[in-house]
Amino acid sequence: MKKLIFLIFVLFLLLVTVIYVEKFAVSDEDLKKGLEDLSDEELEYLLNQTSISENNPLVGEASRSEFYRTYDGKVVSSLRVYELSKLLYEERSYRNLQEREIKSIIAQTQINCNFKTAQELLATCPTENEIKIIRNDFNIVFDKTPAQWSCTNGGKESSVMLTMYNTFRLMKCTPFNQKFIWAPKYNNMYDWTKSLNLKEIQYFSCPPNENCFNHAGSDTIYLLMDDLDNPIYREVINSNTGSGVGFLPVLTIHESRHTVDGGHKGHTCALNDQTLQELGAWGVQYHLLNMLANNTGNYFSSYEENRFRNSAKNILKTRFCS
Ligand SMILES: [Zn+2]
Repeated sequence: MKKLIFLIFVLFLLLVTVIYVEKFAVSDEDLKKGLEDLSDEELEYLLNQTSISENNPLVGEASRSEFYRTYDGKVVSSLRVYELSKLLYEERSYRNLQEREIKSIIAQTQINCNFKTAQELLATCPTENEIKIIRNDFNIVFDKTPAQWSCTNGGKESSVMLTMYNTFRLMKCTPFNQKFIWAPKYNNMYDWTKSLNLKEIQYFSCPPNENCFNHAGSDTIYLLMDDLDNPIYREVINSNTGSGVGFLPVLTIHESRHTVDGGHKGHTCALNDQTLQELGAWGVQYHLLNMLANNTGNYFSSYEENRFRNSAKNILKTRFCS
């Protein structure tokens, strides 16, 4: 009888030791760290594998957990692996869901600039969301209601509204590799213009038999809208005319420079500026054109870059009095 009790005691000790060794040889923390190295797919595979043995016990078994796995040279029960994998899998699913949600929120609050070139951007249409963002960032008004407009990806439609939205998309998406000389905090045309808190960006129509120009006053800029439905504005630069939507951000920046927060009201030598160095609207336009040609990687074709470069040269030649 004593022997039997002793034997049971020894067996009990053995059992306790096995449980102890199993529990503390590899801590949950270490095991979880090891499992974290697995990819999502590997973790899912492991979970399915271990859950089969857990959820499909053989007849007479409470649960099937006689399978052991080796971790770091130590034996670990598959049940623990299953439980920790499950925890990790749930944590990851939650994290992935959060990341997806954040991405979709960002997509709703940002203009899509995921285009390799300006021409690629222009082939697509502004989304409903981008239209909302642009109209929310700028108070854009028209003195004449623009015609109905439409746009299809890869299509050839052109209209005042489409040209206007594409101007702002280009302003946002043109990637400069250096800051603006006239606004050293910025290297983005859209962001700089937005920072000026303009009261209005007014698109206006020129009365018949009058000469009209883009201009600015106080904190509003006025941009001519009459020709903006020209098909050349569905292209960065149209090769027949040498003009296109690529120049419209430049004109917008020129006029924005004339506003109060833009920093340089009028011109200083009649319609021209006295010097390039004063960085008036012509100086800004000159530098911006050169940056479009030289500081935007492969965003513009070499033909487009040359057009910007030549336009800069022309301004340098004709727009400064001394
Ligand atoms: Zn001007």
